[in-house]
Amino acid sequence: MSGFLRVAETHAACDVLGPGTRFVVWVQGCGIGCRDCVSPQWIPFRGGQEVAVRQLAGRIADSDAAGLTLSGGEPFAQAGPLADLVEEVRGRRDLSVMSYTGYTIEHLRAHGTSEQHRLLALLDILVDGPYLVARQADLLWRGSANQRLHLLTERHAEVREQADRSAGLQFEVGTDATVRWLGVPPVAGLRGRLEHHLGLVPVQAANRPEELSP
Ligand code: SF4
Repeated sequence: MSGFLRVAETHAACDVLGPGTRFVVWVQGCGIGCRDCVSPQWIPFRGGQEVAVRQLAGRIADSDAAGLTLSGGEPFAQAGPLADLVEEVRGRRDLSVMSYTGYTIEHLRAHGTSEQHRLLALLDILVDGPYLVARQADLLWRGSANQRLHLLTERHAEVREQADRSAGLQFEVGTDATVRWLGVPPVAGLRGRLEHHLGLVPVQAANRPEELSP
């Protein structure tokens, strides 16, 4: 097992994209192309960096994160290497895995490739459906009301009892005094206000390139 992933960004300690503190991998490339996409810079498949699956798996396994969240871009466009990544990490230690996708779970089950089915079978949580600005809502780990939270295993059964509202945003001050943020904004337009009026930048756009070096 090995191979490569095309990765847009990573973050080793995110508290707002899934249960607990999680390592987040945002993959580069999405063939769905929603008009409201909040990360249009990650739609082209030619951007980002090519990262060795084994090397990234080592970083995740060695981190303090209790879980791994896959986002993007479209994780299921790179389902094979991501399934390899999850298997490689779990070969070193067991951790929970959550993924976002712009597809519905029904579509993936009925029309997905064997690699997409393999990735789906490895997940504890799936958030499905694209972000739609017209249906923006205050929801747990999702941005719009069409997006559903599927608990595919019982690992995080407690989430069923959790209030279905935003997990909030995470703010970090960099060594260069830049204030960065990540998470799912609970109201429409908040991202623009944070970035354009307050001068904050998304963590995803501010990670150091060397963090992605293969
Ligand atoms: S599925 Fe998600 S990443 Fe892809 S274009 Fe739509 S909103 Fe953007």
